[in-house]
Amino acid sequence: MDTQTIKLNTALITGRVRRAEKLAGRAPGEVTLLAATKTRTPEEIRAVIEAGIDACGENRAQELLEKLPSGAYNGKPLHFIGSFQSNKAHLLYGKTDMIESLNSPKAARILSRIGLEQGGVTNVLAEINIGLEPGKAGILPQAAEAFCADIAAMDAMRIRGLMAIPPAGEDGTPYFAAMKELFDRLAKNLPDCFDTLSMGMSGDFEKAIACGATVVRIGTALFGPRDYGAAK
Ligand SMILES: *Cc1c(COP(=O)(O)O)cnc(C)c1O
Repeated sequence: MDTQTIKLNTALITGRVRRAEKLAGRAPGEVTLLAATKTRTPEEIRAVIEAGIDACGENRAQELLEKLPSGAYNGKPLHFIGSFQSNKAHLLYGKTDMIESLNSPKAARILSRIGLEQGGVTNVLAEINIGLEPGKAGILPQAAEAFCADIAAMDAMRIRGLMAIPPAGEDGTPYFAAMKELFDRLAKNLPDCFDTLSMGMSGDFEKAIACGATVVRIGTALFGPRDYGAAK
């Protein structure tokens, strides 16, 4: 999509985020607008950054590592939002500001070990399978407390909160509300850095903000439809 249209879209979406914050009684700018940049070119990514988004999120390790040297994400925090398997840990360690999609104890242990060796800390969110969908990535809600407590006890790891993708094609609100309830319950027994609730995409981010999202991840509404065929 041409960069002028992307910038216009970004201004419109930013306005909708601000309005949703206000309706929810939240402070202006409290919600992080993360651009989901999978399949987008460095030029398209620079356009959303110039237009004022807060962070970028990539789904595939290989794609992220290819775009990184071009300076595509310069000046903004970069999150990994794709399924994070333990074999990605070495590739991605130190390359992002946050792994939003941590969903296995094994991957957590490997990240912790690398961090200990390298002397760095990895910020992570626990990805929750809030719709209890069979075959979908994510920790089940009933296992979330133990998963987060284990990570909080690990060296070189900082558990920052929760992330979820509700079932496609359903109203997101009940799932967002369930996520907020889970988040508040877990936060009572976790360190203060547990402060991030990432939920809501192009079709439902206002509902997510109403339920307490602190990060919304938006792709299509900023960049237009994705063309996976054209992407690497
Ligand atoms: C692609 C993606 C998004 C953005 O989806 P849109 O519907 O295009 O806004 C958000 N979160 C994750 C994890 C994604 O992979």
